Amino acid sequence: MPEKTSIYDSAAIDRLRAELKFEPRRLRALRTRYFKKSLGVDAALAELPHGVREEFASRVEFHPLAVEQVRDSEVDGATKLVLRTAAGLLIEAVIMRTSTGRVSLCVSSQVGCAAACGFCATGQMGIARNLTPAEVLDQVVLAGERLAAEGRGVRNVVFMGMGEPFHNEAVLYEVVSVLLAPGLFHYPPRRILISTVGIPDAIIRAARRFPQVNLALSLHSVRQSVRQRLIPLAAKYSLDELRAAVAAVNKIQQNTVMVEYLMLAGLNDSTDDARDLAAWLEGLDAHVNLIPYNPINAAPHLRTTERADRDAFAEILRTAGYVTTIRYSLGADVAAACGQLVQRENRARALAQSTGFSQRS
Ligand code: SAH
Repeated sequence: MPEKTSIYDSAAIDRLRAELKFEPRRLRALRTRYFKKSLGVDAALAELPHGVREEFASRVEFHPLAVEQVRDSEVDGATKLVLRTAAGLLIEAVIMRTSTGRVSLCVSSQVGCAAACGFCATGQMGIARNLTPAEVLDQVVLAGERLAAEGRGVRNVVFMGMGEPFHNEAVLYEVVSVLLAPGLFHYPPRRILISTVGIPDAIIRAARRFPQVNLALSLHSVRQSVRQRLIPLAAKYSLDELRAAVAAVNKIQQNTVMVEYLMLAGLNDSTDDARDLAAWLEGLDAHVNLIPYNPINAAPHLRTTERADRDAFAEILRTAGYVTTIRYSLGADVAAACGQLVQRENRARALAQSTGFSQRS
């Protein structure tokens, strides 16, 4: 059987249209239904004339991912989608419905991650492989289709799921281009955010390529020794290099860079840490987002910062003149923190396999 063409590969789909000889406006209408309105495959195909519709449907792959599991939070507006690649690998995307009614979608860029952060469930898995552009984009469409049924849609796309986006840089750029393309998803660039563990050259390249797309840096400490302990990959990049990269991004972009700061009791959350962070930020256009630690099984030694300490930390930054927000952590009951649910699932599968039982028939 010849390989199918991915709906996410625009150039190949354009060639298929020419081969099947239907009008360009029909393809435009199909894409509007599929990408912009999230109406699903059947509604999209209905835009094609009879005769070519079946041929097109048989030659195009719409969903490279299958929905393995959907977990709606009972305490807040989070829904976790566990998705399966063709080879059976599991990844996740998290729908976050905020109280304002706006929806953000957290997407994965890799299966696993090479950064090995001790506090992160995905970091504990190691890296399996990069996702393809189609696999990243399909997360947006699958989430969009679920949301369309509620009369909502994905407003913001944030690269904060499994993986380090800049370790899959070419795919990331392809994905962002498709998200921005007027004939495809047509997202406003400011509604896209790329979060990175901090790869200085790549941050600058991304800012040049997409000057209006938002960038977030997972800083977590301004002490090299502490940062390296939390993020082993940080050993490769000095805090000075990172700071210079943020300064360069500020020159290229109008957007404020988001500095993410995971708060861990006794490790990086003292008032001295806050003052040193403020000093590190001096002269940068940055907004600080404090992240309460979401405990994972693999890191029983790490503890969440107490609320009072977190507020004191935030106050120091605000007094120093930095906009500081505290991330409201959604979906704790559905294990929505990066990689948690997939890790649990994968472990259950490994266990099932080692005991000779298969999970699915
Ligand atoms: N690799 C990218 C994006 C994925 S993680 C990055 O490092 O930014 C997205 C954010 O969630 C990062 O700031 C990460 O440090 C944070 N995070 C990971 N595990 C967490 C946990 N258990 N609790 C709270 N935040 C976590």
